[in-house]
Amino acid sequence: MSAKSDQPLTDDEFELYDLRVEVVAPPGAKIYCNSKPGDWFEVRGELLHFQPGMPFSLYNLAALLPLLPAKQRVTAPNDWMTTDAEVACPDPHCPTRFRITRLGKRRFRHSETSAVPLPKR
Ligand SMILES: [Zn+2]
Repeated sequence: MSAKSDQPLTDDEFELYDLRVEVVAPPGAKIYCNSKPGDWFEVRGELLHFQPGMPFSLYNLAALLPLLPAKQRVTAPNDWMTTDAEVACPDPHCPTRFRITRLGKRRFRHSETSAVPLPKR
């Protein structure tokens, strides 16, 4: 895998966005999920990169997990997955949001990420 996305893709390469997920909340709001505004983690390929001293709620992670693989992929400009970036805390009484920001694209090779061969072209 490499972070270079300025070169044309080779036959078995594909790209995914790296993501940053950051906790946001209205100033002074009472937070019920042990989140702290400004805390973050990143998604690079299939790996979650958490930061030392920034624990992350398993309930919040469970709410985010279904969306992260879709947000990693290139989407159409009119797709809501392209434009919408905040996920609500699963606690309906908690004002916390999780802002997903697409960072640079990371390049992967199909042959290094799957045992399933590509169809013959
Ligand atoms: Zn919350």
